[in-house]
Amino acid sequence: MTAQILDGKKLAKQIRTELAEQVTRFAAETKVTPTLAAVLVGDDPASDVYVRNKRRDCAEVGIESILHRLPAETSQSELLSLIAKLNIDSQVHGILVQLPLPKHINTEQVLEAIAPTKDVDAFHPENVGRLVQGRPVFLPCTPHGVVELLKRNNIPIAGKHVVVVGRSDIVGKPLSIMLAQKGADATVTLCHSRTQNLPEVTRLADILVVAIGKPNFITADMVRPGAVVVDVGINRTDAGLVGDVDFDAVSKVAGHITPVPGGVGPLTRVMLLINTLSAARVSSQHN
Ligand code: NDP
Repeated sequence: MTAQILDGKKLAKQIRTELAEQVTRFAAETKVTPTLAAVLVGDDPASDVYVRNKRRDCAEVGIESILHRLPAETSQSELLSLIAKLNIDSQVHGILVQLPLPKHINTEQVLEAIAPTKDVDAFHPENVGRLVQGRPVFLPCTPHGVVELLKRNNIPIAGKHVVVVGRSDIVGKPLSIMLAQKGADATVTLCHSRTQNLPEVTRLADILVVAIGKPNFITADMVRPGAVVVDVGINRTDAGLVGDVDFDAVSKVAGHITPVPGGVGPLTRVMLLINTLSAARVSSQHN
């Protein structure tokens, strides 16, 4: 058996086309161009590429993006004062602070300083709290990308056993909450580095989502035949970019599988655009 590929790249392109139409309509109705402020501190090459890609995506759908590039030695208070300015700037609808920040900066404090209505990454405690209560304004991009990938490929979630491996605040934890909410209705097991007998647990999954950051960690014997396998991991190795799932072996067992690259990553990027348009809509309703 060979698994069906869940093509995130193709799906992301389709969603960007839909979004471009929505942005055009919104701009025509409100005379407002949705605008994202991206804040990049320091000169980490990977962050540079991420921000460049995010801005390119914005341009493709008609969202304006403004880059605030700050030197690595920027102080906490300088960064906070930029965020305070962006918070009250009515031309700016979404604020994205590219992580990781330099070591001397308190990331938590910076993320908490972003106005929750402009928090398009959905990392602010208010947005996390809203998510847990089932009344989110913004959904975090990677978990939202995973859910959208499943839904748009007509993969049933309700009543299914989803095993999520990895409990980070940006991927595993919020995803497990989203999938267990009323409406999504999955039965969710959340695993982490202290989980005992992990292969026994992963083999129970109808849908297995892996976000741990360990190349080729999930092997074929850890997957139930026919399961849906979503690989969030992105690992740079000598052999190039690989996921957390041993793709070659697992694709012989799974029913569906995401490739790396070209699976969850492109959808994560699209969700930022969706959140920026939502932020612009929220702001135009309040003005
Ligand atoms: P973190 O490093 O923040 O968290 C890793 C999680 O994996 C932790 O919860 C950790 O457990 C768990 N873990 C580590 N080793 C094991 C193990 N042997 N068995 C079970 N659980 C384990 O990672 P992120 O969530 O930020 O990222 C995970 C991966 O996803 C990375 O490769 C990252 O690059 C990628 N990523 C991809 C995105 C995309 O758009 N496709 C977006 C974001 C991330 P514990 O909590 O016990 O330490």
